[in-house]
Amino acid sequence: MGSVVIDSAEGGVSRPPRSYFTLTPDQLSERIAGLKADLGSEVIILGHHYVGDDLLAFADLRGDSYGLAKAAAGVKGARTIVFCGVHFMAEAADILAPPGRVVVMPDPTAGCPLADMADIDQVTAAWEAITERAEGDVIPVTYVNSSARLKDFVGRHGGAVCTSSNAGKVIDWALSIGSRLFFFPDQHLGRNTCHTRGIPPDQMILWDPDQPSGSSTPERIAEARVILWKGHCLVHQRFTVEQIATWRAQRPGIRVIVHPECPFEVVQASDLAGSTSFIIDQVEKAEPGSAWAIGTEANLVNRLKHDHPDRFVTSLSPVPSICVDMHRNRAPHLLWLMEHLAEGRVINRITVPAEIVEGARIALDRMIEITGG
Ligand code: SF4
Repeated sequence: MGSVVIDSAEGGVSRPPRSYFTLTPDQLSERIAGLKADLGSEVIILGHHYVGDDLLAFADLRGDSYGLAKAAAGVKGARTIVFCGVHFMAEAADILAPPGRVVVMPDPTAGCPLADMADIDQVTAAWEAITERAEGDVIPVTYVNSSARLKDFVGRHGGAVCTSSNAGKVIDWALSIGSRLFFFPDQHLGRNTCHTRGIPPDQMILWDPDQPSGSSTPERIAEARVILWKGHCLVHQRFTVEQIATWRAQRPGIRVIVHPECPFEVVQASDLAGSTSFIIDQVEKAEPGSAWAIGTEANLVNRLKHDHPDRFVTSLSPVPSICVDMHRNRAPHLLWLMEHLAEGRVINRITVPAEIVEGARIALDRMIEITGG
């Protein structure tokens, strides 16, 4: 197989024709597997835990956003990284991947509503208002679920990126070099993590970008140790304290484990809270016969249930909480993409503009440095 080159399709969104969606799972699987074998080490497929099994079956590496960012940074042979996840993750891969790599997505319109809750104009306006009023250095930290433009902003203002796996370490670092933390865009990860660092609720304020002065008084902004952006993940916000109470009543002894993107009161009512990798790890090492109610994305919960039939594994919510955006990437999209790559043509490429790569890379590298790689 010859080297993949970028053709005129670069930059646009290319989708499979309708006929691809009438193929059976076996037909799709067979054709994708054949193309993957042909492309060999030219291509590496990275898959997030929240995408469906139809895609994850082809992933050379699966992981959460932190694991996949590190995997992209460490890519050796492959020239093309097929990223099965959402847009901000593919952007991070493009920033971190060694030179000469191309990052593509099966469906590049798969975004993240949480990441979209903060844009550069809103964050810049908030930053100016906060730094004008707050005493001492304010350190900005952005959750990896944010646009490359926000990562660039953070990198240029002395801050860092964090993921749900390492938010504690990054927040400790930020408050060791500055007196205040400006955390965006997920209020829940920020609040839950700051709570584990012993920061009381009255030292945190919520910045509402749609309200004048973020809906806080100048005095509150000046006093606050932590300023949290008013953003949330729709998938994780659906879990409730009532659901936890129902499971505890229905199945005494059940362990409740949730992602820190869940609201504070849900995390407090749970037995354990942690990143996607932490959740997987806890269920994997649990005793056979143990019971788990899990507050995170449904594809992951279903996979854990399937992989551990000797444990009782269920979603915390009665209606599975699916990330619709992760689900945009389906097997027909992957087949279409792989066919183009096999013909030496790149479609659905994710490219971070050169003027923001440097700052974003500083913020991502700082995270990797703080967390020890
Ligand atoms: S689960 Fe939530 S945070 Fe993760 S990609 Fe989907 S919308 Fe974004």
